[in-house]
Amino acid sequence: MSSFPSPLSPAWQPDDHKPEWNNWRWQAANRLTTPEELAGFVSQSGIKQLKKVIERYPWGSTPYFLSLINRQNPRDPVAAQVIPSKKELDFSIPGSDEDPLAETRHMPVPGLIHRYHDRALVITTGACFSYCRHCNRKRNWKRGIGPLGKSAISKICQYLKATPRIREVILSGGDPLTLPLEKLDRLLYALSSISHVQVLRIGTRAPVVLPMRITAELASLLKSYRPLWVNTHFNHPAEITDESAAACDRLLLAGIPLSNHTVLLKGVNDDFSTLHRLFTGLNRIMVRPYYLFHCDAAKGTDHFRTSVFKGIEIMSRLYGRTGGLCLPQYVVDLPSGGGKAPVMPSYLLGVENGVAIFRTSEGRIIKYQGVHGATEEEE
Ligand code: SF4
Repeated sequence: MSSFPSPLSPAWQPDDHKPEWNNWRWQAANRLTTPEELAGFVSQSGIKQLKKVIERYPWGSTPYFLSLINRQNPRDPVAAQVIPSKKELDFSIPGSDEDPLAETRHMPVPGLIHRYHDRALVITTGACFSYCRHCNRKRNWKRGIGPLGKSAISKICQYLKATPRIREVILSGGDPLTLPLEKLDRLLYALSSISHVQVLRIGTRAPVVLPMRITAELASLLKSYRPLWVNTHFNHPAEITDESAAACDRLLLAGIPLSNHTVLLKGVNDDFSTLHRLFTGLNRIMVRPYYLFHCDAAKGTDHFRTSVFKGIEIMSRLYGRTGGLCLPQYVVDLPSGGGKAPVMPSYLLGVENGVAIFRTSEGRIIKYQGVHGATEEEE
């Protein structure tokens, strides 16, 4: 453990730790993980109640990410994502599943999920810098899945080589950026050596929960494997800080395009103003909002799920207020491996006597003759 005052202390400030604060290894080594270390965030009686939760779904986060919590705010959006809640053990709502996307069923070899025609996803490790309470893979936290070993990588590569339709490989986890650089390098090398794998993608929450992890050395390694995309996971505008923006910039300057997926989370970001600030904030730091995911029906996350209609209503308002580069696609990842279903606000109300009738995002009704006419001529 650290020889520095811990974030348990009310007097604790990020500045207390400089220069170590900006060292990602220090941050990773000083992650808070024990029930006692929740003391700065919940009451003593609360900690007692949470012990059972943590037994099933461990907790852990970096001093940096925890420093974003406003402890005076009982509904702090960062705390809601990272501090365990007894609601995680309320399984009274039917329909949720340990493995809501049937990933285990779609593993042709251990560590590789193949659910889509031309893409496959590698579970590189089970480790994360910070455990998101809404994670749809929280079933894996207790299993302590280590980084992929040589033989597992070799089997994954054999499968990929034998499946030429796979053109993109996504490195996920856990968080691939928890891997030591040499391991990450070996894995990227093995995957990029497969002739039909055209593009690599890394899904990571490191720029949000441990932005110091994006070192010049890491950015330079990723640069050598372009075309490579990095997909981040910002859920709330409070996560866009000088540090996270600088981390994204280091990747961008290395020629790595950045996209982001957000999960729609009840009580965290399920309102227009929050998502508007988030998506325009991401646009400002040159991270393209890519997906807004409806929160999957993963066991232990029921309290985060809002209705699809609420998501549609928010997206509808966003369409009216901001441009395409700030607008992600809202999708529901269907259970049983059904894949992603885009859920769009509907603007085409119908067609009457050859005239298409649209509703604008402000609610005006506009008739458009040309759309249907052109189609008729083509037929
Ligand atoms: S970083 Fe990703 S894999 Fe890790 S807990 Fe968060 S959502 Fe889950």
